[in-house]
Amino acid sequence: MLDQGAQSSVDAKNCDVLVIGGGPAGSTVSALLADRGHAVTLLEKAQHPRFHIGESLLPANMKLFEKLGVAEKVQSIGMEKWGAEFVSPWHDHSQDFKFAEAWDKSMPFAYQVRRSEFDEILIRNAADKGANVIENCRVTDVDFLPNEEGAIVQAHHDDGRTETWRTRFVVDASGRSTFLSNRFKTKRRNARHNSAAVYGHFKDVQRHNGQKEGDITLFWFDHGWFWFIPLKDGVTSVGATVWPYYMKSRGKRSVEQFFYDTIAMCPPLAERLKDAQLVSEVEATGNFSYTCGRSYGPNYVLLGDAFAFIDPVFSSGVLLAMNSAFEGAEAIDAYLCHPEKSAAAFRRFDKVMRHGPKEFSWFIYRITNPTMRDMFMRPSNPFRAKEAILSMLAGDIFGKTPIWRSLFAFKVIYYFVSMMNLKRSLAAWRRRKSNIMVVEDSGVTSQ
Ligand SMILES: Cc1cc2nc3c(=O)[nH]c(=O)nc-3n(C[C@H](O)[C@H](O)[C@H](O)COP(=O)(O)OP(=O)(O)OC[C@H]3O[C@@H](n4cnc5c(N)ncnc54)[C@H](O)[C@@H]3O)c2cc1C
Repeated sequence: MLDQGAQSSVDAKNCDVLVIGGGPAGSTVSALLADRGHAVTLLEKAQHPRFHIGESLLPANMKLFEKLGVAEKVQSIGMEKWGAEFVSPWHDHSQDFKFAEAWDKSMPFAYQVRRSEFDEILIRNAADKGANVIENCRVTDVDFLPNEEGAIVQAHHDDGRTETWRTRFVVDASGRSTFLSNRFKTKRRNARHNSAAVYGHFKDVQRHNGQKEGDITLFWFDHGWFWFIPLKDGVTSVGATVWPYYMKSRGKRSVEQFFYDTIAMCPPLAERLKDAQLVSEVEATGNFSYTCGRSYGPNYVLLGDAFAFIDPVFSSGVLLAMNSAFEGAEAIDAYLCHPEKSAAAFRRFDKVMRHGPKEFSWFIYRITNPTMRDMFMRPSNPFRAKEAILSMLAGDIFGKTPIWRSLFAFKVIYYFVSMMNLKRSLAAWRRRKSNIMVVEDSGVTSQ
């Protein structure tokens, strides 16, 4: 499939598709395109297995694992996650949600995974399918050629070598490094949301028993919310997603001390961690949400976090990244094999890329609102709204499950209840406006 006639620059190697980054998006698209016979080179700056935050997957991920041929391997490292538990200091009970009660009852569980193991399964799968996978190799420059003739890509190996590729197509799957959109200056901070996170891994935490052991728990507290994600090997990932002003309040405390002090503000979580020991470094990261003006252009696409990042409250990141890779692979394959179909394929790709972040964001913006908290803590099923919400929580938003009218009904009820409690709603709206304000120098990285 290579364009052998192409005149490459100095000793450039040739490929059809060059993928920047071997996270879930990059490894998935590489496997799919290599499987279709395209010459794919995947460059990853790290060496797998490598740490990555984001351990909770969604039921909608499962059919993607099947299609990719990694279902058994993911099962072997995954902790079964059958639902989610919400714990609120403003309510006297905790609330469980079971994916089995979603609209489509055929996807009742997902997995919690250590990302070092999960991401390694995906990148090795790409190599097994025929992609040329090169780790410890950071892409440093991409030059697009005139007349849509492809691109010249430069990369530095950790051992000091520099290498050049000539490729027909570039996939940016560099995650929150957002390689191409930084270059094109198309990345836009989402003015409607802003948060930061601090997290670590613990052993000897108090988990639930039986089928509930692997459920994710979300604890609301005054400055945001915590996640509690039980992993298969007995370790539990705990993290706080907080407003930027709160992260800034760390002052001179170490990140670890700040994390412990933050956990102490949430008594039900502190209780579950009372005998726990920290088994990792505590890390902090800026979570600010962004999207890029374009998801594709001449000879390139942006996948996963390289296109958009939304708050992790619904554990949607890996699903959105892998789904974008499936859609991207279709469009790139059309471009390489059936150019007459590629315009429509890229338009469809763009639509899908915007759909996920948009649908989740409506809920993300309101998840700390008292009306939304009440509706989550006392769920009811008028117009099958609860089933539709569960489908959304399961990530079932790209297929044919007919949840949209019911989600609309849920939103109407939300606005109605907000109007009925106008004073409370206005106070919450004002508080949120100041919560999401940008705070300079909050002492966190953006990775
Ligand atoms: C605090 C927090 C909690 C989260 N929790 C969850 C969760 O529970 N569930 C969930 O699904 N998602 C979660 N996410 C989101 C999730 O981690 C991401 O959405 C997901 O990893 C995106 O996959 P990706 O392949 O697009 O990017 P990544 O997984 O970030 O992969 C990008 C890869 O590109 C490589 N790279 C970058 N630049 C270059 C370069 N120049 N050259 C070569 N390689 C490069 C990187 O090393 C990396 O391996 C969370 C995110 C945060 C910040």
